[in-house]
Amino acid sequence: MRVLFVTSELYPFVKTGGLGDVAGALPQALIQNNVDVRILVPGYKAILENLANKKVLRALFPFFNLKDARILTGKLNGVTSYVLDCPSFYDREGPYGDEKAKDWPDNHLRFAALSRVAADMHLYDAEWQPDIIHGNDWQCGLIPAYLNLRGRDRPKSVMTIHNIAYQGLFPPTILPEINLPPDVFSIKGIEFYGKVGFMKAGLQYADKITTVSPTYAVEIQGDEYGCGLDGLLRERSKDVHGILNGIDEEIWNPQTDKDIIQNYSAGTLKDKTKNRKALLEGLGLSIEKGLPVFGVISRLVSQKGLDLLVKAAPEVLKMGAAFVILGSGDKALEKQFQALAASWPAQVYLSTAYDEKMAHKIIAGADAVIIPSRFEPCGLVQMYAIRYGTLPVVRRTGGLADSVIEDGSKSTGFVFDLPTVSALSETLVRVCALYRSQTHWKKRQTNALAQNFGWSISAKAYIELYRGLTG
Ligand code: ADP
Repeated sequence: MRVLFVTSELYPFVKTGGLGDVAGALPQALIQNNVDVRILVPGYKAILENLANKKVLRALFPFFNLKDARILTGKLNGVTSYVLDCPSFYDREGPYGDEKAKDWPDNHLRFAALSRVAADMHLYDAEWQPDIIHGNDWQCGLIPAYLNLRGRDRPKSVMTIHNIAYQGLFPPTILPEINLPPDVFSIKGIEFYGKVGFMKAGLQYADKITTVSPTYAVEIQGDEYGCGLDGLLRERSKDVHGILNGIDEEIWNPQTDKDIIQNYSAGTLKDKTKNRKALLEGLGLSIEKGLPVFGVISRLVSQKGLDLLVKAAPEVLKMGAAFVILGSGDKALEKQFQALAASWPAQVYLSTAYDEKMAHKIIAGADAVIIPSRFEPCGLVQMYAIRYGTLPVVRRTGGLADSVIEDGSKSTGFVFDLPTVSALSETLVRVCALYRSQTHWKKRQTNALAQNFGWSISAKAYIELYRGLTG
C-alpha cells in the first residue's frame, strides 16, 4: 500500500503545533508497519536545508503563474519525500504568516499549489503512484477537491482535522486563481457562508475524515465544537473517525531523559522526588509539607482555559501548594499570571519563554499538571505527564477525555466536567486531599506508568482505515 502524506509542518524542521509532531512521527510508525509512505511538504528554508540526497524530479511550468517551481525528492527524517520547491511562495520566515502572526496574503495560492501537486502526482512520478493521499488540516483541504476532478481513476483521500477552529477561509474572488470550476462554489461544494473554505472542501470531498481523538470526533459533530461544519460532519458521520495521537516515547522517557536531574522508572518512583526538590530549589519556591507542586506547560490562549486557573489557584495557594507555570501567548492572560506570581512570590513561578528543557523539568518535577481546556482535539502534555507518573488534572473534553481516567482504582489522573472556576478550584482541592494520602497517590502514579501512548497503536488504526479504502 502506497500512501502520500501531505503536511504543511514537519517536526523537527517546521512546527507550530500538534500537526508538526504528528507529521514527524506517524509516517515513520507506518513505515515500521510495512506501509510504503512518502511525505510531500512545502520547500521552506529549514526543509531544503535538511533534505538529504536532494534530486530534481521535475520543473513545473506553467504552474500557478510561477517561474521558479519544481519538485525535489530526497529524504527527510529518513523518510523518502517530495518537496515543492518554490522560493517565491515558501522562502519566508513563518510557514503561515509573519512574526506578528499576520497571515501571508497569498496563503490560498501557497497551499492550493501544494494540494495541486499532491493530486497530480501521477503526472510527476511514473515510478511511484499513491493508493491513498492523506492530507492534514485546511492547508491540504483542496486535495480531495482536485482529486475529484480526476473522476473515478484516482487515489483515495483521507483528510485529518487537527483543529477545526482553523478553517482557511478566503473571499470568493480567489476562485479563478485556484483552478477549480465555478460550480464547486456552492453549499454542497466548497462554499462556507459566502467564502471559499479550504477545510470545508476537504471535508466535503475526502473519502474518509479523521480527527485526533475519538471524543473530538463526536464533539465536532455538534454545534458547540463544530465551528459551523458540524452539519456537514453529521451528514458524513459514518466516514468520520477519531484516532488518538501518540507521543514520542524516546524524547519523553523518564528513564533516559537528559534534561532532568534524576532518571527514574515505575520501579524507582522514589527518585522522582529528587526532580521535585531540584525544581523547587532551582526556582526558589517554598511549599507546605504534604501539598503538591502543580505544573502548567501551555500556550496561553482561551482554548486552554487557563484564565480559570488564575482565579482558581488562590484557594490552594492559601493552603500552601506551589505552581510552576511555563506558557506564553495572549498578553492579557500573561499579565494576569504575572500578577498572580507577584502576589504569591514564594509559591508561584512564571516563565513566558518557550523552553523545551524547562518543560521536561516540570513534567518530571511537578506532582500534577493542569490542563483545563475548553476544547482539546488531542493534547500531548497530559500524555507526557502520565508517562512520567505526574498526574494530569484535565477537563473532560476531546483527547483529554480519551487519555486520562478518573474511575476508582483505575484512575490515572483527575477529570472535571464544567469549564468554570469553581469546578477547577474544587478539583485542585481534591488533588491536595489525595496527595495527603500517599498510598492512594502512588496507586494513581502506578496506573499512569502502566499506560501506553506509543505511536504504534495509532499507526495500526490508520492502517485499518487505509485498508478499508483500498479494499
Ligand atoms: P497545542 O498543540 O494545542 O499547543 P498540545 O498539548 O497538543 O497543545 O502540544 C503542545 C506542545 O507544545 C507540547 O509539546 C508542549 O510541551 C509544548 N509547549 C507549549 N508551550 C511551551 C513552552 N512555553 N515551552 C516549551 N514547550 C511548550
